[in-house]
Amino acid sequence: MAMVGCEGIVLRVRDFNEADRILTILSPTEGKFEAVARGARRPRSGLAGTAQLFTRANMMLFRGRSIDTLSSAEVVSSHSRIRSDLVSMAYGSYVAELADAMTAERQPDDQVYSLVCATFAALDRREAPAAIIALGFEVKFLSLIGFKPEVAACVSCRAPEAETAWFGPAAGGLLCDRCRRTDAGAVPMDRDGRRLLRALMARPYARLCDVDDSIRGYGAVADGMRQYVDLRVERRLRTLEFINHVTSMGREDAASSEGRLGPD
Ligand SMILES: [Zn+2]
Repeated sequence: MAMVGCEGIVLRVRDFNEADRILTILSPTEGKFEAVARGARRPRSGLAGTAQLFTRANMMLFRGRSIDTLSSAEVVSSHSRIRSDLVSMAYGSYVAELADAMTAERQPDDQVYSLVCATFAALDRREAPAAIIALGFEVKFLSLIGFKPEVAACVSCRAPEAETAWFGPAAGGLLCDRCRRTDAGAVPMDRDGRRLLRALMARPYARLCDVDDSIRGYGAVADGMRQYVDLRVERRLRTLEFINHVTSMGREDAASSEGRLGPD
């Protein structure tokens, strides 16, 4: 068996046999592939730290006929703070699932790899609200893989951006009032939403910090992008339910604490 060394980041973890894990790994040089981490669920295993969702590591692998085997690894960043918070975990899991769902096996793309690494690092360092970081990832990732949304003009008739008030998930960008009928799924996109969308496309993660997920544009952009993704991904992303569950829990917590503040 051939031995291969590469850097990689873990997009998916599945338990296998009694103590093993199967990892889906994204590498800048090897592309996306699966590897078995034997014994990784034993606490003292040298692979236990690597065989976790979001971990970035330098790896040595035996190239197998059907699946690779992780031989040894050195963690570059475990991104453990993502896993320590339910909201970060939900959005991080969504980023990982989206990256997995929309990349082909064994087709290296170092720009996609860098983007996934930057996104996990931003979530780990809490550089901005997790929802904003994930939204920034969606916009940038789709652009990188060939689905760049049109945000400078109406995607249908080229009317200037100031005349657009809709985002068409099927049309692939902003739509004016006249053209919105061409996309039955068009969502309203006011000036705040359009500004946020352009900012997310243009800004590196380090400058997302001044964007707050409570700003008015967020809801429309998130709604539009989720539908945009939904039309282009071939399977239902199960992590979306995780996000909905966690964010609705947050709202219930807020409502119940407000209730406690009120008179009995
Ligand atoms: Zn138009």
